[in-house]
Amino acid sequence: MNDLFKIDKRILDASDKALELCKEQFENIEKITEYNQLKVQKAFIDNRISESHFGTSTGYGYGDMGRETLDKVWAQVFGAESALVRHNFTCGTHTLATALYGVLRPGDKMLCVTGTPYDTIHSVIGISGEGMGSLKDFGVKYDEVPLKDEKLDYDAIEKAVDDSVTMVYIQRSRGYELRPSLSVDEIGKVCKIVKEKNSNVIVMVDNCYGEFVETKEPTEVGADLIAGSLIKNAGGGIATTGGYIAGREDLVEKCAYRLTTPGLGAEVGATLGHNRELYMGLFFAPHTVGEALKSAVYISALYELFGYDVTPKYNETRHDIVQSLGLENPESLVAFCQGIQSGSPVDSFLLPEPWDMPGYDSKVVMAAGAFTLGSSIELSADAPIREPYYAWIQGGLNFHSAKICALLAAQQMEDKGLLK
Ligand SMILES: *Cc1c(COP(=O)(O)O)cnc(C)c1O
Repeated sequence: MNDLFKIDKRILDASDKALELCKEQFENIEKITEYNQLKVQKAFIDNRISESHFGTSTGYGYGDMGRETLDKVWAQVFGAESALVRHNFTCGTHTLATALYGVLRPGDKMLCVTGTPYDTIHSVIGISGEGMGSLKDFGVKYDEVPLKDEKLDYDAIEKAVDDSVTMVYIQRSRGYELRPSLSVDEIGKVCKIVKEKNSNVIVMVDNCYGEFVETKEPTEVGADLIAGSLIKNAGGGIATTGGYIAGREDLVEKCAYRLTTPGLGAEVGATLGHNRELYMGLFFAPHTVGEALKSAVYISALYELFGYDVTPKYNETRHDIVQSLGLENPESLVAFCQGIQSGSPVDSFLLPEPWDMPGYDSKVVMAAGAFTLGSSIELSADAPIREPYYAWIQGGLNFHSAKICALLAAQQMEDKGLLK
């Protein structure tokens, strides 16, 4: 490796040790990847996918067989009655918002049971922002049950689910918080508690960063509706944009009416040549998620060996692909991100600098050298420049390429006299 990249012996020795520590987790990840790959493959075979599904449509997009069958394949993989997979969901937030507006009506109440949800959902609910047509503007009420010691508070959830609640909302991934992500079993337990209390309640899960991390998805343990982004896990690094919704047939249909119009629903939508990459993305997704998980586990082990605070630890069970590193000071955050960027296949020559990103109350430094702009199933790191000086890392299309980035980041810190 040293003919190609200059890495100090101390860092390489730590890397060897980290790989040794990761062995058991890598074996676990391998098993999950294989199971999920077979699940996807079976769905392709059962739905008799052929080249004709990769065709394109224009205009209204009536009768686009590729689009219609992709929804069926997706539903099978996610153990759902129905699915809506579209390149014209612009991002995860748009997809989640479509699902929320799709099924909630004036007077309904949404109850988030994982504390305050991901930042970009705030203006959708109406927790922040005004005059944008939030759910609140349309008379949808909102309440939340905070986490207790960073865990689901089952008793409080049971108490909060009364007759006034229409939807219970769960965020599976930790997002940019330090709390642990939720397991599918924990989500299943919430579903059970909620349904026993009031069987009419819709349980919806923000599934971002969670797809294919375990062998089951929330729709297989009682969730009525899930949604996520295709430039994260479920697009396998191949999809260049889009999102998906899956779940109960009547609810997915309502979401389709919201995405297009009442009456037209999922019957329209030109695919403009995207079908092939969405099929291929789903086919690759289990493997790509496995590579991203291996990358996260390795980075966790390596930086723990250097003496940094890491969550999750390398030997902890994971429920999403996010890894965070406590790098202790602003200089280290910047050096780390610059090192990651320097090893990226795209835009390696750019030097990330902290900037005032809209919507954040502190400067943020980000590393992203991706084939798809903003894709976070590709290796990316971002860090708000504020205490406790954590960097959030996710993705990695393949382990080897993420590994060299992690080593270059350590080297960059070492060169600046910052590495512990
Ligand atoms: C990424 C993400 C979203 C959606 O974000 P987009 O950037 O709009 O795709 C929502 N919730 C969680 C937990 C996420 O990680």
